[in-house]
Amino acid sequence: MNLSIGDFSTDNRGWSELLSERSSASNFRGSVRVPWVIVGAGFTGLACARRLAELHPNDEIILVDARLVGQGASGRNSGFAVAVSHFPGKYIPEQKGNFARVNRINQAGVEILDREVKTLSIDCQWDDGGFHHAAADADSIYECDNFLEYLNAMEIAHTPLNKDEMDNRLGTALYKVGVHVHAGALVQPAALVRGLASKLPSNIELIEQRPVLKVEEGRSIKLSLSDGEIITDRLVLATNYEAGKLGFLSDA
Ligand SMILES: Cc1cc2nc3c(=O)[nH]c(=O)nc-3n(C[C@H](O)[C@H](O)[C@H](O)COP(=O)(O)OP(=O)(O)OC[C@H]3O[C@@H](n4cnc5c(N)ncnc54)[C@H](O)[C@@H]3O)c2cc1C
Repeated sequence: MNLSIGDFSTDNRGWSELLSERSSASNFRGSVRVPWVIVGAGFTGLACARRLAELHPNDEIILVDARLVGQGASGRNSGFAVAVSHFPGKYIPEQKGNFARVNRINQAGVEILDREVKTLSIDCQWDDGGFHHAAADADSIYECDNFLEYLNAMEIAHTPLNKDEMDNRLGTALYKVGVHVHAGALVQPAALVRGLASKLPSNIELIEQRPVLKVEEGRSIKLSLSDGEIITDRLVLATNYEAGKLGFLSDA
């Protein structure tokens, strides 16, 4: 498939539109060679670029995105930095070790993010208040009971809430029961992803609004852009569901 710029829609819709307008500072053209390229400047690509920059402070790293930062899923989600995963269905005691492992990873991620938001002074309305799980109908009440059983078995800090308590907290009488999980944060996701992108280490060059249209693997890796090319030895694809457009993970 021959890709073109038109294959990457650039509508904002949502959180980005609440922020000031953003334009790309990059005027990349021509041909460059760098040791590292990361394609995709969402949370995954940004985290990867930052870590690589720490590990290889003398290497030039290019982080390239088809869109402006904030226009992808990382700037358009519900904004929960989740410390406790919800595994739907009945609690499975045999899975306790796996559940705990996932939540350790979640918690570590939230702590790293919290540290970066503070260190880099990112204004993203970070709120450490955890999250509410709310149930309004029979199916979701059943699921809420499952979730409570899991939280109790895993000894995860939480507060079960009845209808009145939910109403008092959320300002709506819709929900019949709920639970407040204490860990985790809520953010303005577009502000967070933009903030992370605007405070990258100096050995990372961020190139926005430049879709990678083709990846050719040989002794080196060649990335074709509409107005140039990047040659690299190491490529990280952080393109989320769009990896298939470049011929990777097509049947995943
Ligand atoms: C409605 C919704 C609500 C969600 N709520 C939450 C939530 O509350 N909490 C939570 O943790 N997760 C939530 N998620 C999931 C979360 O948004 C994603 O898991 C996360 O944003 C993925 O980040 P990413 O960096 O991997 O991918 P993305 O943010 O999708 O970034 C991938 C980037 O790659 C770029 N790209 C793709 N192909 C190319 C190419 N060929 N050339 C150049 N660039 C390219 C794209 O432009 C994009 O910017 C939600 C998702 C949705 C859809």
